[in-house]
Amino acid sequence: MSQATIYYESDAPLGPLRDKTVAVIGYGSQGHAHSLNLRDSGIHVVVAEMPDTDNYQLAQQHGFPPVTAEEAVDLADLIIVTLPDEIQAKVYPRQIAPHLSPGKTLGFCHGFNIHFSYIVPPEHVNVVMIAPKGPGHLVRSEYEKGGGVPCLVAVQQDATGDALAVALAWAHGIGGARAGVIKTSFKEETETDLFGEQVVLCGGLTALIKAGFETLVDAGYQPEIAYFECLHEVKLIVDLMYQGGLSYMRYSISNTAEYGDLTRGPRVITDATRAEMKKILDEICSGQFAKEWMQEVEAGKKNFTALYKMDHESQVEQVGRRLRRMMAWIDEKEV
Ligand code: NDP
Ligand code: MG
Repeated sequence: MSQATIYYESDAPLGPLRDKTVAVIGYGSQGHAHSLNLRDSGIHVVVAEMPDTDNYQLAQQHGFPPVTAEEAVDLADLIIVTLPDEIQAKVYPRQIAPHLSPGKTLGFCHGFNIHFSYIVPPEHVNVVMIAPKGPGHLVRSEYEKGGGVPCLVAVQQDATGDALAVALAWAHGIGGARAGVIKTSFKEETETDLFGEQVVLCGGLTALIKAGFETLVDAGYQPEIAYFECLHEVKLIVDLMYQGGLSYMRYSISNTAEYGDLTRGPRVITDATRAEMKKILDEICSGQFAKEWMQEVEAGKKNFTALYKMDHESQVEQVGRRLRRMMAWIDEKEV
């Protein structure tokens, strides 16, 4: 089996960013974590945010008086774009592109806009990616503990000859190189990230939970019981897989559960399901999904909002909101 190239701190010196300025555009989930970690690593950071937003105030509280994106790009050697993916291509042409002088490095945390060419940077800049494999708050909290979240690194464009070194210094500065930085490409990161969230992590899992819940309720079982069996207990199982893969999960559950798992699981995910997964992957790779999503954003996200509402008001959600109040240890988050 071929193994990935993984960089650690000793392969990723901070040098390329010392005495340089890093601009972080957007102080959200990833943006705040990259800003704080890089600053704590001794790197000069400027933050860009929109005035009159909560995150503008947050950046201010954290000691980053926000500037405009134009000013930040002017000042910086490395520009990290941590805007929502669907906003990036709107902000880029007016606020970022005109200020990208030769030799600067444009950095992303996800490859969407570059890979699908919604953003086409000039040839005279580096284009790199550091994609932490975790949400921003974890990138921050692990760094504070002396650790880090593993990251992916990719170089799309190497104008200066040291684009990879700049990207690795960025990974070092946020703590990622303490854990390991895996080499990939914008294409691989973008396609696998979208596939993972659509088929397994978000889309696949929510559809599986809903279908299981509805099957039990339709058969006359109490929704409260169905909620525990089909949603609540997912966490217990996932935590075991997270710690030791499928094998440790199977070691921990009863033999009865394990036999049911091994013999029934493949009947739920059938050849037809796998064929659909491949179709979804093809839609990602052809750019069809990206185009559809961008059109949805342009049209005001009407379909998106309607679909969200439907699930938000569904029975599994209503029952869940009631039941979670019975469990004092849950850090309950209702939206
Ligand atoms: P968030 O939505 O958390 O943060 C984006 C920030 O940009 C917000 O503070 C937002 O302000 C601000 N913003 C600035 N200008 C604009 C504008 N013109 N319009 C709208 N918003 C603006 O983003 P994420 O951190 O989740 O994502 C950033 C990047 O990181 C993306 O490429 C994403 O794919 C990637 N990524 C995210 C991960 C995650 O777990 N979240 C994991 C790995 C990668 P406001 O809050 O006012 O809207
Ligand atoms: Mg992902």
